[in-house]
Amino acid sequence: MKRILITGGAGFLGSHLCDRLLKEGHDVLCVDNFFTGSKTNIAHLMGNPYFEIMRHDVTFPLYVEVDQIYNLACPASPVHYQFDPVQTTKTSVHGAINMLGLAKRVKARIFQASTSEVYGDPAVHPQPEGYWGHVNPIGPRSCYDEGKRCAETLFFDYHTQHNLDIKVVRIFNTYGPRMHPNDGRVVSNFIVQALKGEDITIYGDGSQTRSFCYVDDLIEGFVRMMGTEAGFTGPVNLGNPNEFSMLELAEKVLHLVGGQSKLVYQPLPIDDPRQRQPNIALAKEKLGWVPEVELEDGLKETIAYFRKLLAK
Ligand code: NAD
Ligand code: UDP
Repeated sequence: MKRILITGGAGFLGSHLCDRLLKEGHDVLCVDNFFTGSKTNIAHLMGNPYFEIMRHDVTFPLYVEVDQIYNLACPASPVHYQFDPVQTTKTSVHGAINMLGLAKRVKARIFQASTSEVYGDPAVHPQPEGYWGHVNPIGPRSCYDEGKRCAETLFFDYHTQHNLDIKVVRIFNTYGPRMHPNDGRVVSNFIVQALKGEDITIYGDGSQTRSFCYVDDLIEGFVRMMGTEAGFTGPVNLGNPNEFSMLELAEKVLHLVGGQSKLVYQPLPIDDPRQRQPNIALAKEKLGWVPEVELEDGLKETIAYFRKLLAK
C-alpha cells in the first residue's frame, strides 16, 4: 500500500484516478480547491477509511507525507481556464513548484498531467513528443498552454538539478462520465445540447479535428506511466489516435441521442487549433499501452451519465 496524493482529485480525471488507486489498495489523499471539481464526484468514496480529502489551493505550499504524487490540479476546459487566466498560470506554475518542492522533501515520485496544448496549433501532424509546438504566448489560451509548458520545464529542471523521480504525460482530449456539464468542452456540450433538444453549437465550420480518448483508457495509461522504471521521465503522449472533425462528432452524438436538435454555426474561438492527433508510438513501446474504447462505446457511457444527471 502506498500513500498517494492526487491534486485536482475532485475533478473529472482526478476522481476516476481516486477510484482506480483505492481499488488497487492504496491510501489516497485528494487535494482540491473545488474550482471546477466537486464533492459529488468523490461522494461515493467518503466512507472509505483509506480515502481522505483536503480543501487546499496548490498555489500555496503543502506539507504532507506521501510516497507518490499525481499533479492534476488545473482547470482543463477553455471556458474555465480563461475565467481567471492569472490564477490558471499560477496554478500550473506555482502549483508545480509547490508539488515539486514537496516531492523533493519527502522523496516521492511525481507525475505531471501535461497536455497536448503544449503543441499549440500544431504544424506537425500527428504530434510526436519531439515536436516543440506552435504556441501563441499572448493569446486567450496562453495562460493554460504556457503555464503547462513552464510546468514541464520545472519538472525537467527538478529532475536534472535535484534528481527528482518525475513522470510527465501529455494528455489529448479525454471524455467520459463526471465531465462538468457546463464546462464548455465539446463532448459535454454536444451531449447536453442533444439531450435537452437544444441546437448543437458548431464553432467555425466544424472541420477542425480532435482525437477523443475515453477516461478509462487514459487512467490505465496514467497508472502504467507511474509504474515505469526510475529514470524514464517521458514526456509521453496519451490519447486516442482516432481523429474526428467536430461535424463528425456532432453527427455521432445526434445519432446516439436521437431527438430533433439542429446544427448551428458560431464563430471559431481565437487560436482554436485546426487539428490534433497524438502519435502514441512511445506509449506503445514504453507502457505497452493502446486505447481500447471506441468513440461510439465511450459516448454511450457518457450519454447515460448525462441523462441521469439531467433527470435529477
Ligand atoms: P477538471 O477541471 O475536471 O479538474 C481539475 C481539478 O483541479 C478540479 O477538481 C479543480 O477544482 C482542481 N483545481 C483547479 N485549480 C486548483 C488549485 N489551484 N488548487 C487545487 N485544486 C485546483 O479537469 P480534468 O479534465 O479532470 O483535468 C485534470 C488535469 O488533466 C488538468 O491538469 C488538465 O490540464 C489535464 N488535462 C486534461 C485533459 C482532458 O481532456 N480532460 C486534456 C489535457 C490535460
Ligand atoms: N467546439 C464546438 N462546439 C462547442 C464546443 C467546442 O465546435 O460547443 C469545438 C472547439 O472550437 C474546438 C473543439 O470543439 O475546435 C474542441 O473544443 P474543447 O473546448 O472541447 O477542447 P480543446 O479546444 O481544448 O481541444
